[in-house]
Amino acid sequence: MNLVPRLAFLVLLLMSRTLHAAPVAQAGPFEFHSDFWLNLHHFLYEQALHPAKPRTDLTASDKAAWDNALAFYRRFLTPHDLLLDPHMQSIDTELAEDESLPKLVVNGPDANVWDTLNSVAAIYRARWWPAHDQTNRAFIAAAVPLVQHYAPLLTKQLSTVYEAAWPKDPVRVDLAEYANWAGAYTYTYGWGKVHEIMSSTNASYQGNAALEMLFHEASHGMVPTDSGRLATQLATAGKGVSMPKDVVHIFIFYTAGELTRRDLATNYLPYADSKHLYQDDWARWHNSIEVYWKQHIDGTLSLNDAVDKIVADTRRKVVH
Ligand SMILES: [Zn+2]
Repeated sequence: MNLVPRLAFLVLLLMSRTLHAAPVAQAGPFEFHSDFWLNLHHFLYEQALHPAKPRTDLTASDKAAWDNALAFYRRFLTPHDLLLDPHMQSIDTELAEDESLPKLVVNGPDANVWDTLNSVAAIYRARWWPAHDQTNRAFIAAAVPLVQHYAPLLTKQLSTVYEAAWPKDPVRVDLAEYANWAGAYTYTYGWGKVHEIMSSTNASYQGNAALEMLFHEASHGMVPTDSGRLATQLATAGKGVSMPKDVVHIFIFYTAGELTRRDLATNYLPYADSKHLYQDDWARWHNSIEVYWKQHIDGTLSLNDAVDKIVADTRRKVVH
């Protein structure tokens, strides 16, 4: 390649990496995507973790390439949690950036990951992607009217309850056939950007539950476990008190579930109740949250007073 085409290629490459792929839809605070590379990455992760049925419809050479990719994932990626490992988060961020690329650029410290994804891209595109993309888009089409209707209310309520501002940038939601063991996860990156990855096939995230869980996940971006009004007051009130390590998560489950239930004005059963998540320690905290945090949601108790009362109440229950 002489210099001029080479420069033109470089400019095109840079443009394609800085031009973000258009979302499938935007509604409320969310920008919904169905991203080929993120789907392929999560599908390989899932298959490497849980070997699926034999894929007899792949040709011998495709099967060999696919199995190589799974072996790579098993060796280097599935030992790492998609949510908890910052390196796995950085792979998600990169693949979201690369959504519009027909082929990943193989360079940098994760060159082997990009190379592995490229090596099976054509197989995935032909064999699985059309169905996965269709399911993602159907999920988005069902969620958008709900979000459009309830987002103005829910964003205001959540921000008031947590005394926290919504992220400045739209919350990016990537639908995928598989997200992680829980069905969805969220991390923050850059300067307060929020990225949700949510399963479009998980039965527990369909219908009205999609509304609750989209806002539940977004709440993780607003309510950090180690800073912000809620975590700070829990640390102050709970000095010397043993608390579940994911105590903030109980508040997030309860708040998103309770607000969705109220706003829908139906007998909607929140996700945590339907999945019986309030067990043992969580049950003790949930009982106190249901009394005092509910008063805070109603506007009759301040955040600090509610947290103080919840901590004292859970402590009392342990003593007796
Ligand atoms: Zn959560």
